[in-house]
Amino acid sequence: MAEQWRAVVALTVTADSPLGRTVEAVDAVTAHLPPPETHARCAVCRTRPWPCGPFDTAARGLAALGVPVGYLVPLDLHPVLWPPAPATSDQQTLDMPGATDG
Ligand SMILES: [Zn+2]
Repeated sequence: MAEQWRAVVALTVTADSPLGRTVEAVDAVTAHLPPPETHARCAVCRTRPWPCGPFDTAARGLAALGVPVGYLVPLDLHPVLWPPAPATSDQQTLDMPGATDG
């Protein structure tokens, strides 16, 4: 049976610190994540697609305060929130040592 919730950790921060003042938004972002191995549905708002409204509201609040939301979102969900941009012909490519031209 698949896990319904992602594992969480608790941190201690001073309540009146900039991060401490964001605790409600951090809690909301964390609570409104999809279960592990699921990217389409919030674990709380099960009938809505993810990112759900409460996640979006909390994430925008954090962003407005300068807190990077990506630090709170598991890496497997980053492509859902920030899809990779399509490659363009004027995009630089990495030079690979030993690669031959042409
Ligand atoms: Zn939700």
